[in-house]
Amino acid sequence: MSAVMVAKKVTRKWEKLPGKNTFCCDGRVMMARQKGVFYLTLFLIIGTCCLFFAFECPYLAVHLSPAIPVFAIVLFFFVMAMLLRTSFSDPGVLPRAQPDEAMYIEMEIEAANGNVPSGQRPPPRIRNVQINNQIVKLKYCYTCKIFRPPRASHCGICDNCVERFDHHCPWVGNCVGKRNYRYFYLFTLSLSLLTIYIFTFDIVHVVLRSVSDGFVQTLKETPGTVLEVLVCFFTLWSVVGLTGFHTYLVLLNQTTNEDIKGSWSGKNRVQNPYSHRNIVKNCCEVLCGPVYPSVLDRRGLMAELSSSPVMISDAKNYIPDLQTTKTTAPLIPNEQTPEEAKPPLQYRTEEATEPKQSPTVQELPAVDIPPASLTDTAPAKEQVF
Ligand SMILES: [Zn+2]
Ligand SMILES: [Zn+2]
Repeated sequence: MSAVMVAKKVTRKWEKLPGKNTFCCDGRVMMARQKGVFYLTLFLIIGTCCLFFAFECPYLAVHLSPAIPVFAIVLFFFVMAMLLRTSFSDPGVLPRAQPDEAMYIEMEIEAANGNVPSGQRPPPRIRNVQINNQIVKLKYCYTCKIFRPPRASHCGICDNCVERFDHHCPWVGNCVGKRNYRYFYLFTLSLSLLTIYIFTFDIVHVVLRSVSDGFVQTLKETPGTVLEVLVCFFTLWSVVGLTGFHTYLVLLNQTTNEDIKGSWSGKNRVQNPYSHRNIVKNCCEVLCGPVYPSVLDRRGLMAELSSSPVMISDAKNYIPDLQTTKTTAPLIPNEQTPEEAKPPLQYRTEEATEPKQSPTVQELPAVDIPPASLTDTAPAKEQVF
């Protein structure tokens, strides 16, 4: 048996992922780092439902219908399932470029820009793609070192680029993006129904008992009712309002990010290239379209190399790790030729893991836009992400 350089230990990829996400259950659960507001959401939902089941349901089941608590239980579990599905899943995080990929992109950009005289500001890093006959500009992310795909944006809290980024929601403790938007929408919709349901039957319960026992006596016997009514009343406006806003976004196939930035409105009057101009088709695409797989492969195995000699018999389970080996041996720019170079990360990952986006999406020749065209004088049908 000879001494060779072998894997020191095999780890899951989530342990080495950059960004500010936290993982548990061996990488199965992925969330943002700040989770305090998420625990408050859990506390409010579970607490209010427990009070409803303890104080209202026994009386309503006997005097009105046993279906009332049954429906409340079903709705409660649906709300919790949608909340946890939104909170614990990968919202569509894009992996950062490996050092050699980042170097290739840098070389491409420098070759396209030419030599920028010192003291002058380099032109913005933008690529053009055509989507439904409309030019869309893809911005370069200096943190992830990739050109963001259309509709992607970098979340400052999670420190990652997220596909079809909607917003970062502290109430669910996660970003809302391409992979969990439908669950987030169903969560807000079902929570609105649950809040209205509990609020309504709180009032019905108080009215029914007040007829026989008197109003004051009813409040004394069911002290949780007042608390429930208050929580539901204040929750109602915000949750129902949020659901209405997201229903409007779903009907137009827009994201919150695009709405806040005014991407498809404002002085340029740019048409949303992702909208089908049909609310039913937009709903079907956003809520019933395919669920895309995560491109992070966060439970995949990777091995760290060790320089200490280890018996080769111990190394039979060694799994070579491209990520580690690449970082230890960066390419020298002058040695990299176009034939050896790989395409940029975002195109590789999408081709490898997802079906082709849309036949109407095509990349335009790498023409850099002069800075002047990014200002108010930009053509009417152009949009920057
Ligand atoms: Zn980024
Ligand atoms: Zn985030």
